Amino acid sequence: MLSDKLTPAQVQWSNQSVPVSVQFDDVYFSTDDGLAESHYNFIDANRLQSRFSGLPPNAVFRIAETGFGSGLNFLLACRLWLQQAPSSANLHFISFEKFPLALADMQRAHSCFVELAEIAGELHSRYPLLLPGWHDVWLFEKRVRLTLWFGDVNKGLPELDATPSSLVDAWFLDGFAPAKNPDMWQTTLFQQMARLSHQQTSFATFTTAGDVRRSLHKMGFQVEKRPGYGKKREMCFGTLLHKRPFSWKTPWFERPEPIDNDNKQAIVIGAGLAGAAAAYQLAENGWQVTVLEQADDIATQASGNLAGAVHPLLTADWNLRSQWYLQGYEATLRHVLPWFNEAGSERLGDLSGLIQVFVDKTAEQRFQQAQQRVGLPHELVRGLNAEEHQLYLQGQHRHQGIIFPKGGWLYPRAVIERCLAHHNIHLQCGFKVSRLVFENESWRLDNGRQQYCAPVVIVATGSLEAKLNQQLGLPIRPVKGQVTHLQPEQQRYVLDKAVTHKGYSSPCHHGAVTGATFEAPNMDETLSLASHKENLAMAEQALPDWLATSVSASESSSVTEIELAGRVAFRPTTPDHLPIIGAVAQTDWMQKAYIGQSHTHAVYRYDKQRYQKGLYVSNGHGARGLMSVFLAAEILLAEIEGEALPQPLSLYHASHPARFAIRQWRQGKGDFYE
Ligand code: SAM
Repeated sequence: MLSDKLTPAQVQWSNQSVPVSVQFDDVYFSTDDGLAESHYNFIDANRLQSRFSGLPPNAVFRIAETGFGSGLNFLLACRLWLQQAPSSANLHFISFEKFPLALADMQRAHSCFVELAEIAGELHSRYPLLLPGWHDVWLFEKRVRLTLWFGDVNKGLPELDATPSSLVDAWFLDGFAPAKNPDMWQTTLFQQMARLSHQQTSFATFTTAGDVRRSLHKMGFQVEKRPGYGKKREMCFGTLLHKRPFSWKTPWFERPEPIDNDNKQAIVIGAGLAGAAAAYQLAENGWQVTVLEQADDIATQASGNLAGAVHPLLTADWNLRSQWYLQGYEATLRHVLPWFNEAGSERLGDLSGLIQVFVDKTAEQRFQQAQQRVGLPHELVRGLNAEEHQLYLQGQHRHQGIIFPKGGWLYPRAVIERCLAHHNIHLQCGFKVSRLVFENESWRLDNGRQQYCAPVVIVATGSLEAKLNQQLGLPIRPVKGQVTHLQPEQQRYVLDKAVTHKGYSSPCHHGAVTGATFEAPNMDETLSLASHKENLAMAEQALPDWLATSVSASESSSVTEIELAGRVAFRPTTPDHLPIIGAVAQTDWMQKAYIGQSHTHAVYRYDKQRYQKGLYVSNGHGARGLMSVFLAAEILLAEIEGEALPQPLSLYHASHPARFAIRQWRQGKGDFYE
């Protein structure tokens, strides 16, 4: 995927509020009447008024744009959408921007469009972090989804999935004139347009350059000209008439067929974070969901801790995991932040900042290298100033620290309860699934006495069901973790914010929690004094003045088991430290179609992956469930309903359930299932 540092737009101003790109020496929109010209070139030429008003309820209309710029075209499309489209329909606007405008510049650019002020305000309040890659934003009570790709459009387009129901309906080809910006108007752009369009997908562009017209025509578009706006002579528009077949690059990761939407019934196994988030996402989208939990209560496994830290993952090279977890972090905030406006939300925890203390040089260097590699915006993470240092770390000056202003801690149980309180969810505790059988297009689950049936089943059982995980081909390894609970009198001062170090220390309701150990392959469920001491030593190293002498690890002789409480849980981890999300492949078929074949065949000779219809997993969330389960839930819904993915293809493949078997086979290492 893309992890190049972003170059922000450099702008000068014409007529006070019309931005001019220094990089391209061109205006973002017309200085005369930008609004009317954009409307004419893009909204009108794509016939959006009649197309929006003629949509059936619940429809999705997808626009893709090259060059988000000031977002003027987006605002115009939103305005028309809110006026014309059925309120149950969804506008998905995907836009690519190599040189994003700073928010302040965007606000200035919009200041002259008084009639768009309200719509623009919503965009300003949700404008994503200026980090490379994909950002999903929901606006206008989820009537509009904006996917902003920060980076080159020709690198971003191949990351879009071309499942039939997630194709583009209309293209806005903006992005400065080909003469000023030849790098953008490349063959890749036109090939990708054809791959991502259906017959009848329209396009519009202000340019009539011969190369552009010829390329579009070659890809199957009918290209027409019409008079340009104002003094401009001509512009182009058209429709895809001939869709060419495209071969798969990675047939083993091709998406499953969507599930018939008439029967929106699903069963989720497991009432931890992964199961609750998946159930909630389905319930929000009209599914009736039964959650089956073998224990007598929710959150009995790894999700049962008193506090979990919420923050993005920084790696020195901003690798795939950082990119994946940035998406996961954004998804968590997208879902959870609005809940903080509800009554009783204090129970959820606190997302007003998380501190990371650099207890060694490696952590500090990692931050600095990530900073150099990708350019971390201040809104994501920044150094602590002296005042914050004093406030949050009580002035201990042994270590430097950083703050993630939107990070914090959550009480997983409260998050799970909030999810499961949805009126479309029925929770049944004390139900241990002993059989899972597919018959008559439906899954039947029983516990020997009672049964449930549904066409969709999501298995979110963590590391608990080792046999089931093995049957599904999931290499989940339980890793023991112990946390230590601290009463108020066991702390010298009250932690104001969650702090990560080698482990983490966090406020929680009625005290604090600190930990956690990583103790694989130890499977002992009992609390151990040695693990408590390890937790206290980690906390003491990062926060030397925090622990009261009665529990201080350096005064370890006074630590007794009676004084300390805590909890042991087993995190479900995976070999590549990314979760496992999505439809479960048919193992026997994979065996024949791929694994039994030479891994050196050209890719196009393989068939598309086959799945066990209606069977999905969300597992392997390790110690980072709060940063991954909501993205996982969005991925699952997209798969089940056949909708556009909430992430780029390379990240989707990175958490695909079949990846371990495919990886092993592609590397010529034999059979994963043996
Ligand atoms: N659609 C915009 C609006 O409504 O304000 C105006 C777009 S402006 C004319 C062109 C935009 O394309 C600029 O913001 C520029 O940075 C962006 N751009 C140029 N080349 C690009 C590329 N290769 N990939 C992505 N964006 C690009």
